[in-house]
Amino acid sequence: MLKGTKLYSILNNKCPRCHQGDFFVYKNPFRKDFAKMHDHCSHCGETFNKEVGFYYGAMYVSYALNIALGVGLFILLVLILHLDLLIYLFSFFGLVLVLFPWIMRISRLTYINLFVKFDSSKK
Ligand SMILES: [Zn+2]
Repeated sequence: MLKGTKLYSILNNKCPRCHQGDFFVYKNPFRKDFAKMHDHCSHCGETFNKEVGFYYGAMYVSYALNIALGVGLFILLVLILHLDLLIYLFSFFGLVLVLFPWIMRISRLTYINLFVKFDSSKK
């Protein structure tokens, strides 16, 4: 997939600077310690913890992803399949709970990719 793009880094758990080193320690987002991150990139040395509280901004990305999920699910279940609103609500909350680790990781990777540019010389 399009190495050198921000999407590559976000979807493949890679360092935003070099796209070589892993961002999170474990590849599986559904482990108990899914949020454990490396302090630095193992390949280029890029710091992943920019400053204290840096990843609070990732909450806004997470919020946007959850709203997109809710709207998409509403269109599918209520407007297209004509299911009851209660089924939609339980489906949405169930999906948010199940996908929480994955959405949190995608949000953090998206947020750091807003501030760190890909550097092809670091490959
Ligand atoms: Zn790196």
